[in-house]
Amino acid sequence: THFGFRDVPTGEKQKLVGQVFSSVARNYDLMNDLMSLGVHRVWKRYFVGTAQVLRGDSVLDLAGGTGDIALLLKDRVGDTGRIVLGDINGDMLRVGRDRMVDRGRVSGFEYVQCNAEALPFPDASFDLVTIAFGLRNVTDKDAALREMHRVLKVGGQARVLEFSEVTAPWFKPVYDFHSFNVLPKLGKLFANDADSYQYLAESIRKHPPQAELRGMMEAAGFARCDYRNLSAGIVAIHTGYKA
Ligand code: SAM
Repeated sequence: THFGFRDVPTGEKQKLVGQVFSSVARNYDLMNDLMSLGVHRVWKRYFVGTAQVLRGDSVLDLAGGTGDIALLLKDRVGDTGRIVLGDINGDMLRVGRDRMVDRGRVSGFEYVQCNAEALPFPDASFDLVTIAFGLRNVTDKDAALREMHRVLKVGGQARVLEFSEVTAPWFKPVYDFHSFNVLPKLGKLFANDADSYQYLAESIRKHPPQAELRGMMEAAGFARCDYRNLSAGIVAIHTGYKA
């Protein structure tokens, strides 16, 4: 039996998402490489490399997980910058913190266990807020987007990196086969956890496509909302600003 996200009431979703990420935390980094053949690293580099951020900035990386985005961001904000890694799951944060310490990257990072729907930060705290492969796991996405807007300073940028709708028709059957056949098998083989990877494939299909997410960002108060597809829309980067 898989986690059956399609039919659960929203209150339950958060609990199930918690189980999924506690279950995958230890193998999370390896699985990302296997599932995407390493391409997630390229997407993340592009996502951070094109972010509106300066040396010394304060950045919040939501759903920061094991810290891939935070690490890349640190190079952009420099020694005087501050990176807050926020995630609802303590197991993911712990793996992330241990990984940073192993790499000798300690100062300039803060770890905060929090729900993206209700952030424990005052208004106008950050120059940049990022969320990578996180928004689709959040139950109330509109609330999360409103919170991202609230904690941004005026002029600050919000960036969302997320799976999106594949635009090339010829690619869709290949992609579907990968998601619903290859993915759960990889999950079973390498992490002994087919259910979690079945959930991931389902959550990707349920996530709002490009134009709809842009509309949600506008509704949350963001100005100049836009998006860019990467890899034919397998993922998209959405941006918006606090005006
Ligand atoms: N950003 C990292 C990356 O790109 O590798 C991790 C992405 S991981 C697929 C999704 C993360 O979202 C998990 O660590 C999970 O705990 C977190 N998450 C899920 N729901 C959340 C919520 N409501 N608030 C904050 N984080 C959440």
